[in-house]
Amino acid sequence: MKIRYLYYIVLGWALSLPACNSPQSRVLVRDLQAFEQAVRQARPGDQIVLANGVWKDAELVLKGEGEPDKPIRLLAEEKGKVLLEGQSNLRLGGKYLEVEGLVFRNGYTPTGEVIAFKVNDDTLCYNCRVTECVIDDYNPPERFDSNYWVALYGQHNRFDHNYLVGKRNQGVTLAVRLKSEDSRENKHRIDHNHFGYRPTLGSNGGESLRIGTSHYSLSNSNTLVEDNYFEWCSGELEIISNKSCGNTFRNNTFFECQGTLTMRHGNETLVENNYFFGNGKPNTGGIRIINENQTVRRNYLQGLTGYRFRGALVVMNGVPNSPLNRYFQVKNALAANNLLIDCDHIQLCAGSDEERSVVPVNSAIVSNIFYHHHKKNIFTVYDDVSGIEFRDNLLGPDMDFPVYKGQVLKQGFERKAIEFESKDGVLTAPAYPDIGPDQRIERPGGHNTGVSWYPKRDYRIHFNTGKVIAVPAKENALYEAVRQSAPGDILELSEAATYSHTKSIDLVHPLTIRAAAGLAGKPLLTFERSSLFNIENGGSLRLEGLSISGKSSDDKPGNAVIRTSRYAMIDNYQLTVADCEVRDLDVNHSFEFIKIFKHTFADSISLINCHFENITGNVLAADKETDDLGIYNVENVVVDGCTFKDIGGLALGLYRGGTDESTFGPIVQLSRTTFENVGQNRRNKYAAAVLLHGVQLARLEELQFINSKKLKLHLIVGEPVIELSSIHFEASEGIESNDDAWVGNQITYHQNQNKQ
Ligand code: CA
Repeated sequence: MKIRYLYYIVLGWALSLPACNSPQSRVLVRDLQAFEQAVRQARPGDQIVLANGVWKDAELVLKGEGEPDKPIRLLAEEKGKVLLEGQSNLRLGGKYLEVEGLVFRNGYTPTGEVIAFKVNDDTLCYNCRVTECVIDDYNPPERFDSNYWVALYGQHNRFDHNYLVGKRNQGVTLAVRLKSEDSRENKHRIDHNHFGYRPTLGSNGGESLRIGTSHYSLSNSNTLVEDNYFEWCSGELEIISNKSCGNTFRNNTFFECQGTLTMRHGNETLVENNYFFGNGKPNTGGIRIINENQTVRRNYLQGLTGYRFRGALVVMNGVPNSPLNRYFQVKNALAANNLLIDCDHIQLCAGSDEERSVVPVNSAIVSNIFYHHHKKNIFTVYDDVSGIEFRDNLLGPDMDFPVYKGQVLKQGFERKAIEFESKDGVLTAPAYPDIGPDQRIERPGGHNTGVSWYPKRDYRIHFNTGKVIAVPAKENALYEAVRQSAPGDILELSEAATYSHTKSIDLVHPLTIRAAAGLAGKPLLTFERSSLFNIENGGSLRLEGLSISGKSSDDKPGNAVIRTSRYAMIDNYQLTVADCEVRDLDVNHSFEFIKIFKHTFADSISLINCHFENITGNVLAADKETDDLGIYNVENVVVDGCTFKDIGGLALGLYRGGTDESTFGPIVQLSRTTFENVGQNRRNKYAAAVLLHGVQLARLEELQFINSKKLKLHLIVGEPVIELSSIHFEASEGIESNDDAWVGNQITYHQNQNKQ
């Protein structure tokens, strides 16, 4: 009896062993060769462990076949201590593979993807998972060298709990590809990821997530995107570009993202229980509806300021018999039980024009709350909305109903004072528990997405966070101070004397350079090289209270006070010049104040209360992207309270060519400024004082042009918003534009000038 009992125990133990002959193994590998051997030998249930340390130029290929309960796993010896750097990447292909705990940083992929869910087109992934991996600032030096950080191919894969931060080059951060039959109906799950900072690209191709492409957009993807956190994802107009059918976006948080979740192509999308926090930041957007059978319900949208295609809720017009890559008509759309608070723009029939002429049909906007504490009028109706049924929607008590062609659309809206409760920065309307997200579901944020073992990166540009350093008026003292500075430092020029420079100053982090308080005059900066300041990757600059002269500069064409890197820059920069005087940039014929090179991009350039005088070239010409691909050099420009006198070239020039509609900028404010004898240099190829070509938003007010060349406005892309007021021309050439429709009547002309 005893023996028989033992026999059964032994038999039971033997049956519990893996089917293969050897037991499951865990192999620690220290180099690529050992890794490749381990992959060749891997059996279901095996673990391949990468040793701690830097893996340089490691192109990992994990190919194998695990089993449902016995995946082949690729692990880090310790999470956060296995660092893939240089030209490293990962491809995986086969079945039941899992990857966990890797970090990609300090380099960029030599191929089109950092992590690809395929080895090649014949070996895709099925039931594979990548979890708790980090890709951090892993960019090529050239911003238009396009790649994906992650591409999903195959079916039934999961990408979860990863942290992707600091993608700066062109190309989608995470793409779901539907290129072959084997990658459709894929039912991927993308969840609990932290999509971190993604700066404005200044072009199409800055999406954080794209599912499909227009070519395969009528195929089902059936991807589930849930519980992700999108933080400062502002690459372009589309944070998410949905381009296939049957996808679900559920319970994601979008924090201060300048763009929208766009149902660009494909049908039967469900967008529910998502949170959009704009916090009043510019261009923050919500949800954009295009195509058929889209459902948008129980979302929370707060403080979104975006207009037109980046409104809080946008329903687009379509193109008759649209080709795959244009705009299909909206049919059977439902937007229900959404809670929109302090969102500035709801856009209906957006994009209505000669081409986009078909209006939404069989659609409904039902039981939503549109509540704004400060703004009465949030609806813009661009076309006939009779194909949208409005029912049981609530408006704030003082708010305006939507209006189309003078007709007030009251039906389906009721004005009402609503009591809100605030919890963790989210408002709820207790009287309407079914409007807004289901509060029982945990909201994604920085704490419950991504990984816990890697620092959160805040790659936004921060000024004045460091120490204040006094700089005496000695030759190259500022050069030395900059070299020894730390990010965010303030270099304070302590004497109202001349600071001369025999070397150019390279800026590689944000710095403020300003006059000390209480000086008798402005410190004067002079320089001998072809430039004084070079903004290199990472550099940003604020100049305050200084005087700058070009008198000491070499007699060479192409000099500039400030220039960007001569090469493509992957990092965006910011530049502010305030309360400064700039004179005598005239030792040769085309001396510029700010010289911008191709494939560089400024988040903002501001000239505030400055005086520019006796300059042979341009003060600011952001006009280097001449390929007409919708690429441009600066997002926001402010020129306020300035005088420009005796300037040979442009006081301001902005150029964005092409018809692409993926971006917001350039955005320009030009105000309280005088132009006297500007633009008359025969080398000024634009023959203008100010050139605004392809800008998206321009506010021009209180401008005076005296004896100056034209104000040239060439406005073609999208639906530019142009506001002109109080513009005076005296002995000047006036305005030249491609369209007079927006030229208001607040423009005056004196003496012998022509409006052209
Ligand atoms: Ca796009």
